[in-house]
Amino acid sequence: MSAASAQRYDLVVIGAGPGGYSAAFRAADLGLRVALVERYPTLGGVCLNVGCIPSKALLHKTGVMREAAHLAGSGIHFGKPSIDLDALRAYRHAVVGRLTGGLAAMAAARKVTLVHGSARFVSPHELAVGPADGGAARASKGGGSQAGAPPVLAFDKAIIATGSRAIRLPGAPDDPRILDSTSALALQDIPTRLLVIGGGIIGLEMATVYAGLGSAVDVVEAGPELMPGADRDLVKVWEAINRPLLGEVRLSTRVTDVVAERKGIRVSLQAPVGLSNPLPTTAYWWLSAVARTARAWVWRRLVWRPTHAASSPSTARCAPP
Ligand SMILES: Cc1cc2nc3c(=O)[nH]c(=O)nc-3n(C[C@H](O)[C@H](O)[C@H](O)COP(=O)(O)OP(=O)(O)OC[C@H]3O[C@@H](n4cnc5c(N)ncnc54)[C@H](O)[C@@H]3O)c2cc1C
Repeated sequence: MSAASAQRYDLVVIGAGPGGYSAAFRAADLGLRVALVERYPTLGGVCLNVGCIPSKALLHKTGVMREAAHLAGSGIHFGKPSIDLDALRAYRHAVVGRLTGGLAAMAAARKVTLVHGSARFVSPHELAVGPADGGAARASKGGGSQAGAPPVLAFDKAIIATGSRAIRLPGAPDDPRILDSTSALALQDIPTRLLVIGGGIIGLEMATVYAGLGSAVDVVEAGPELMPGADRDLVKVWEAINRPLLGEVRLSTRVTDVVAERKGIRVSLQAPVGLSNPLPTTAYWWLSAVARTARAWVWRRLVWRPTHAASSPSTARCAPP
């Protein structure tokens, strides 16, 4: 790769999630020449595409359904809702599309160059942007496509904002009935029974959505309480409102084995000493929301031949080949 063929920027930002796009926009507002590299076709990262926004859009809909049902107590009956899953999916896509499209417009207004593709350092001041999805990397000024864009970006400073990915429970088989938060939010179906592994915020959001859509949902959490790390007063309020929607909620319980069978996903659970395990262990769909982790593999691919062990993003060093 030759720097001569590269476009030069004051700043490149890798990753167009909330961390990346806000840094890119701020830098552009301060007068820097900025390129924002994103491997997916839309901006917004996990939050806008497969996280905060679609989950809140669905939580809102199921929340409204629940409020309507509550009115029965005061004599107002709406009847059982009928759910058109295709239309709900289209609504979710429309909400996400409006917001990610808005970001592209904000990038264009600031003259931030968007480069679509997967970024990789090729020297301390150059990035190669390869195809992210089998297609060619492409650059655009704020969203418009520009053919023949150079694959190398030269820069003075870089910000790495490559985000996180869901952790897959070790040993879990490949099966479309085993979901993570991304596939759960894609709403491929409404399972009759769903076992949510992980009683943290993301697991409980998904549990609430699917319970609202009509699934029988059980939750297993390895720790002694739901939403570890959250303020207990808030968790109490959450439990008072949402606990009645759920079936079994088992704390201090671990999944020790997962097998995909024709009838459903069979799980083996290790309950706390002295407690029996009342959960049916088959016929589930299964949603794993155990945790998320930094995209460490991106680091390994991003950082090319480090001269020193990189202990954190800010200490990563690159060396020429
Ligand atoms: C279901 C769910 C619900 C959530 N709800 C909330 C909420 O209500 N409120 C809240 O505050 N947070 C919520 N979060 C968390 C929130 O989504 C994250 O904190 C936020 O997205 C982190 O932003 P980020 O920019 O650090 O990373 P990300 O959003 O992960 O963005 C990183 C981007 O980098 C790109 N990238 C990675 N590697 C490369 C590469 N080599 N080249 C080019 N691009 C690359 C990725 O494609 C991605 O678009 C939720 C998360 C989930 C999963």
